[in-house]
Amino acid sequence: MKCKFDTSLLQALIDDNIEPLELIFLSEHLKVCKSCMDELKMLYSIDQSLKSLFNEDNEYMDKLSSKTELVIDNLFAQLEEEKKLKDIINDSAKMSGLIIENSSRFLEFMPGIPLLRRMGRTYKDRIISYAIPHRKKAK
Ligand SMILES: [Zn+2]
Repeated sequence: MKCKFDTSLLQALIDDNIEPLELIFLSEHLKVCKSCMDELKMLYSIDQSLKSLFNEDNEYMDKLSSKTELVIDNLFAQLEEEKKLKDIINDSAKMSGLIIENSSRFLEFMPGIPLLRRMGRTYKDRIISYAIPHRKKAK
């Protein structure tokens, strides 16, 4: 025979939002009604399963988020390293450029260099004139 007791009180008990008077009333009823006691056990077991599922889910989400964080951190660190490497390469390229520029500028002020340059030009012209002695214009 099905009990006519208000089973929402059983859920209220499990959810821990039962009124004190309702609790007394329910407790007294549970002492005598096997049907409601079984119902309470079933509801309680469902509640526990849901809670453990929820907790596992939370644990999983925590693991997931920490893994995601780790991946993101690694990615950022990698990008930072690449950026640093790029900066180092850029800087050293700029530095080499400056060194070459300054060295060649310095050469301008070395004694004899302008003379050597003029001689070189003359020498080069002479080599060309020797290498192609009878150069003719193309018809
Ligand atoms: Zn009952």
